[in-house]
Amino acid sequence: MNNSTEIEISVSKVTCMTSCRLAWKFRYIDKLPTYMDANLLLGQAVHHALASFFTHKISTGSNLSMRDLLELYNNAYDNIPKAQEVRFDKDEDPLETKIKGLNCLTLYHPQAIQIKPLAVEQFFSFMIPGTGIKFRGYFDLLTEDDWVLDYKVIAKAYPSDVIQKSLQMQAYDYAFRATTGKLPKGLSYQCMVKTKVPRIDILSGVPHTKETLDRFLKLSVQVAKDMQSGNYYPSESPMNCSKCSYKDACERWHL
Ligand code: SF4
Repeated sequence: MNNSTEIEISVSKVTCMTSCRLAWKFRYIDKLPTYMDANLLLGQAVHHALASFFTHKISTGSNLSMRDLLELYNNAYDNIPKAQEVRFDKDEDPLETKIKGLNCLTLYHPQAIQIKPLAVEQFFSFMIPGTGIKFRGYFDLLTEDDWVLDYKVIAKAYPSDVIQKSLQMQAYDYAFRATTGKLPKGLSYQCMVKTKVPRIDILSGVPHTKETLDRFLKLSVQVAKDMQSGNYYPSESPMNCSKCSYKDACERWHL
């Protein structure tokens, strides 16, 4: 691939392509509508609330109260479905799902007030060296002391080595170096685990090795080539397909 064929990729594009090429085509080429499930709604509402919380802190130097944070979450949770279709499974109750988010943020507020934010939802892009591939995305949160933080609302705890293994964190690490000229001091998933008794897991790690980042770049280049190949086929599995927005189109794929 040379510089005359610029192509844009992101963490979402890479993870979608490596999960199911046909779903990638439906999403990024055919631009079929997607729906949001309960988990995504909850996660987006938490992101909206925390983005507003930290934006307020950057502009005023003060923390919003827990009550204000929960109010931000409530508003986001109620308003997101007005903009995008949300489908709940038969066994999912919208109010119960909403309460899970409230419980997670109630636990996370004491952690949030300790953080010194520098930038919220910060856009980044960088060119992969020697290619025409632009990698773009957003940092959830950068701190004054050069930490890269990302919030997650998850059903089950992440493994302890997730910072090193996560493609998203590898992308953030590379992007931080490429856009600031500095090493991040560390990278951290701020996990809200929405188990019956919710809890907060702060999983932090040091910057990645050169070998890990080289592997990340190689994967990104390979996926960019696959995106242009026109070679799209279904990868059926319970994990890929259970929440897929494109089941109907997928059924008709062979016709
Ligand atoms: S239903 Fe499964 S195989 Fe079909 S597009 Fe979706 S993820 Fe891929």
